[in-house]
Amino acid sequence: MPLVELTDVHKTFPAARGGTQVEAIRGVDLSVDAGEIVGIVGYSGAGKSTLVRLVNALEPTTSGSVRIDGHEITGLKERELRAVREGIGMIFQQFNLFRSRTVWGNIAYPLEVAGVPKDERHRRISDLLHFVGLAEKAHSHVEELSGGQKQRVGIARALATNPSLLLADESTSALDPETTQEVLALLRRVNRELGITIIVITHEMDVVRSLAHRVVVMEAGRIVEQGPVLEVLANP
Ligand code: ADP
Ligand code: ADP
Repeated sequence: MPLVELTDVHKTFPAARGGTQVEAIRGVDLSVDAGEIVGIVGYSGAGKSTLVRLVNALEPTTSGSVRIDGHEITGLKERELRAVREGIGMIFQQFNLFRSRTVWGNIAYPLEVAGVPKDERHRRISDLLHFVGLAEKAHSHVEELSGGQKQRVGIARALATNPSLLLADESTSALDPETTQEVLALLRRVNRELGITIIVITHEMDVVRSLAHRVVVMEAGRIVEQGPVLEVLANP
């Protein structure tokens, strides 16, 4: 059974005043197996971010089916959706960290929201800090960190609730090439050592080449090509 399965998914945004409606996703079928790293590429406006927001249940679909680990998430109540989202970590281009919190406090946040007891929370945060190599930065404020360190905090926070799926939206686009390589190496460890499935959205073909097992190409709300990275990206 695939970990993520979209069947004939459509997403239409209603017209803004004076405009026309936007068909952001137009009949997408996508299946991602547990353990895979899938790259989603495509021009700006192709629908990549919208697709990821549907998988993360941040937006409802207009029609079609989204299954996570075999469970249909369309039509679930808010309380049930929260449980689904706990199983999905997300990292962002601009990191989306709390500036007022320490590194520790940022990683603690999703555990506090999930009501994880203090002892367990502390153990978990400590383990995550070691995993991402930031144990000595626990008390630092986010502003004191480099871009790469910030994204490592973002990854630790995304992993806090022990998700089976990690969604990465342009997660290296704000980083220089060397730091990008560091973050990609960490994401490979997330996949290999923790067995976490990863979906990466990116416009950086080098990122897809060096990280993904499989690539999905989107254009105007549709998947126009998909397959092993070397086949799809062999003839640019
Ligand atoms: P990508 O991530 O590939 O750049 P997006 O998923 O962000 O593409 O956008 C796909 C299309 O949907 C674009 O035309 C965009 O303007 C539109 N869109 C995205 N989010 C919204 C929204 N909340 N309201 C209206 N239109 C949206
Ligand atoms: P609260 O119960 O209010 O969440 P915590 O004891 O979890 O308080 O944490 C308060 C602050 O103490 C955190 O922001 C963090 O910086 C620091 N802290 C607590 N335990 C540790 C630890 N084992 N390692 C590093 N920092 C810690």
